[in-house]
Amino acid sequence: MKTEKTFVIIKPDGVQRSLIGEIIGRFERVGLKLVAMKMVVPTEEIVGSHYTLDPAWIKKVGEKSIKGYESKGQVPPSKDPIELGNRVLEVLKKYFTSGPVVAMVWQGAHAVPVVRKIVGGTEPLTSDVGTIRGDFVLDSYQMSDTDGRAIRNVIHASGSVDEAKNEIDLWFKKENIINYRLVQDAILYDVNLDGLLE
Ligand code: ADP
Ligand code: MG
Repeated sequence: MKTEKTFVIIKPDGVQRSLIGEIIGRFERVGLKLVAMKMVVPTEEIVGSHYTLDPAWIKKVGEKSIKGYESKGQVPPSKDPIELGNRVLEVLKKYFTSGPVVAMVWQGAHAVPVVRKIVGGTEPLTSDVGTIRGDFVLDSYQMSDTDGRAIRNVIHASGSVDEAKNEIDLWFKKENIINYRLVQDAILYDVNLDGLLE
């Protein structure tokens, strides 16, 4: 549990907004350990592979968008989640390949749900205040669909431990994930918390 890993990408808008340091700082201060990092300009191929690692994602993202509209009393652009999901995948390719992104692996107890909590919900309009998406962006399903583009929400984070494993394997080679000790590991995880007093 203490070595749970999650995959994070600071998307092109996050890099352009100069939020790399701010985002890394939020994960550091909660006690997570950075175990891999690189800056790349993604290809359409890797974005396509990334979002289809889970074959159910297309339908799920479509259903989530429809709910997002209906919860605000609005009419979604389509009632077919698969059609909507495929549209999202296409605009995501354009979004991710528009510039450099920062891909990272963060490790620590409950890394996957802790990072999702800090990142916040998909649609910045309704992401909680205090989360990265709630604090730094103002996009919505309505705005992105009107303009035929992806929701710009500055960051991606894995949704489950299995998703994280597949995403880490897709973006990183095993030898680029570093196993090392941080001094603070003892404070977070040592059972006896001994060795503090002289
Ligand atoms: P999350 O990133 O919160 O896990 P999803 O996996 O459901 O969200 O969607 C992946 C990404 O696709 C989102 O972060 C967002 O950038 C984009 N996106 C999701 N739904 C839509 C939509 N209806 N229209 C445009 N872009 C969307
Ligand atoms: Mg997701």
